[in-house]
Amino acid sequence: MYEKTLRVCETFLSIQGESTFSGLPCFFIRLSNCNLRCRYCDTRYAYEEEGFCETIGSLVSMALETNLRLVEITGGEPLLQENSLNLIRELCDRDFTVLVETNGSMNIDPIDPRAVVILDIKTPGSGFSDYMDFENLTRLRAHDEVKFVITDRADYEWAKEILHRYKLIGDRILFSPAMGYIEPQKLSEWIIMDRLNVRLNLQLHRYIFGNRRGV
Ligand code: SF4
Repeated sequence: MYEKTLRVCETFLSIQGESTFSGLPCFFIRLSNCNLRCRYCDTRYAYEEEGFCETIGSLVSMALETNLRLVEITGGEPLLQENSLNLIRELCDRDFTVLVETNGSMNIDPIDPRAVVILDIKTPGSGFSDYMDFENLTRLRAHDEVKFVITDRADYEWAKEILHRYKLIGDRILFSPAMGYIEPQKLSEWIIMDRLNVRLNLQLHRYIFGNRRGV
């Protein structure tokens, strides 16, 4: 029988470092390949290495064996592989809380509505803001989250303008300081000064494990 497969970069257990799920233990499935090349990318190996082929069935089994309820599908860019939609659906069918981290360039509409989309909106500092599908901001479900990685003041102002234009507010809007580009304190000060109703998003896993891969 034909079994649907995915090209996988790595699978691992770690602490969820981002989003409103930050701090929770989580099983990560990082899929291979990406259509962008962000300046600050910390997972280049997801598109530089070939990865390995895995069936959806065995990925679901791995998730079940963890005994955790939280799974993140990430990349690279997971939506480049059509079968990622089947994996998401299979995990939702088994009552996992499924987070889908996507880079903002792909249509999020086909994602199972039970999953939580963490939608990156790439700022100009990434070098890829022109690749964003801004229609995605009209496709968000109530439980989805939007993340802006901020490299400098210009990115911050740009992100504020997007919030204003698409009427995005609330604690599911994440502003994340790009590590090595801007100090968390600086971004925090801007948010406080502006009374901006967004959530500061630190990459908790990097504070715990540094740049170690697969944690
Ligand atoms: S979208 Fe993500 S994986 Fe792709 S280049 Fe940008 S940061 Fe790296």
